[in-house]
Amino acid sequence: MTTTLTRDAVTTFTLAAISHVMRLDARIDPDLLHAMVRSKREIIVEVPLRRDDGKYATFRGYRVQHNDARGPFKGGLRYHPTVDLHEARTLAHLMSMKTAVMNIPFGGGKGGIACDPKQLSLRELESLTRSFTNLLGDNIGPLTDIPAPDVNTNAQVMAWIVDEYSKKHAHAWGVVTGKPLELGGSVGRDEATGRGVMIATREACREREIDLKGARVIFQGFGNVASFGARLVQEELGCKVLGVSGSLGAAYNPLGLDLQAALAYYGEHKMLKGFPGGESITNEELLEADCDILIPAALGNAITLKNASKIRAQIVIEGANDCTEADADEVLRDRGIFVVPDILANAGGVVVSYFEWVQNLNNHYWGIEQVRKELTRIMVEAYQTVSARAQQLGISMRMAAYTVAIERIARAMILRGL
Ligand code: NAD
Repeated sequence: MTTTLTRDAVTTFTLAAISHVMRLDARIDPDLLHAMVRSKREIIVEVPLRRDDGKYATFRGYRVQHNDARGPFKGGLRYHPTVDLHEARTLAHLMSMKTAVMNIPFGGGKGGIACDPKQLSLRELESLTRSFTNLLGDNIGPLTDIPAPDVNTNAQVMAWIVDEYSKKHAHAWGVVTGKPLELGGSVGRDEATGRGVMIATREACREREIDLKGARVIFQGFGNVASFGARLVQEELGCKVLGVSGSLGAAYNPLGLDLQAALAYYGEHKMLKGFPGGESITNEELLEADCDILIPAALGNAITLKNASKIRAQIVIEGANDCTEADADEVLRDRGIFVVPDILANAGGVVVSYFEWVQNLNNHYWGIEQVRKELTRIMVEAYQTVSARAQQLGISMRMAAYTVAIERIARAMILRGL
């Protein structure tokens, strides 16, 4: 299926970076570079489900395979009512850039099912997942396309996919990552994105000569990325976390939050409103509150034209995917705010997914220290490559990251003769 070109932020950034790559190496065919904004394959399936009440229903499932020049497609599966082709396309494209900038041997993919998992029983969720796996057939596989958890999917969903896929392909643990430890998951995957965010924060502060001790940090979100990230910047870097947020509001304390108490309160009440250790403010107010480092780690499009001019942080570390709109990115740049882009800052998760896949292929499992050491090495190497490129060309970290990624993908395409 051929794909239509849509102008999301990822495409805008890619097109801008392509012009830098063309200036750097005039021998690369511009058409080959521009082909990179389109997906290689887009799969749409109608997933049947027999509901608990005996009725039949169908749900639309997607898998977009953006680019596999550097290795198998890699990216999450999301179960949410807003899942559609456009969203999967954008996020698959982002994954190709992310795996390339991190220099891990994968391409980019993304997909999911347009459904509301809150309206499905556990049996229905399992049945839907198994049908979806069958419909995807050999389009996924350890050496072709490797899905992972994303919004509303988890280790259990991955276990069902492994089981269904393995009925036809023996013990193919490597077909997905983010699995339970008992089925070939990797230690350290739960903390990986938060740890990567911490490493990106450390490197950025070093570069910008910001003292980490007592540096004031705000996280948007308090889920997987933000809760691990907040704990790690506090424990390992000596920063002070002033604010965190849930979907219903944020907690802010200019003197620093007691994270353990905040986590316990959030776990119990499922919101931060009323948390006695901080002031209850709105999510909009949190993004604009006074701090040194802002880490959006909740939703896409968190930084918009509306709030970009009001952000007071010196550094933004993008914990969430696709969290800054293209116009807002320009405002941040003009205001001298240093942004570490999503494809670098939140790549810790896909890097440890890569370790999980390597362990599955070798049937040999690593300890937590090895996972952390290798993650740190890959994160630091990627950061330094991007930072050197940014300085060499006098461009933003985002443009530099996209430029490095596009060059790597283009070289693989040229070498393969695609
Ligand atoms: P999560 O579901 O565990 O947590 C999301 C958090 O955001 C929750 O605390 C939720 O309450 C909060 N939130 C929701 N709506 C909000 C709103 N309107 N305002 C403020 N906060 C709100 O998700 P996660 O795994 O932590 O992922 C967060 C982001 O990071 C997503 O964009 C995801 O795509 C991205 N990401 C995650 C990983 C990973 O390994 N988990 C890897 C790369 C990127």
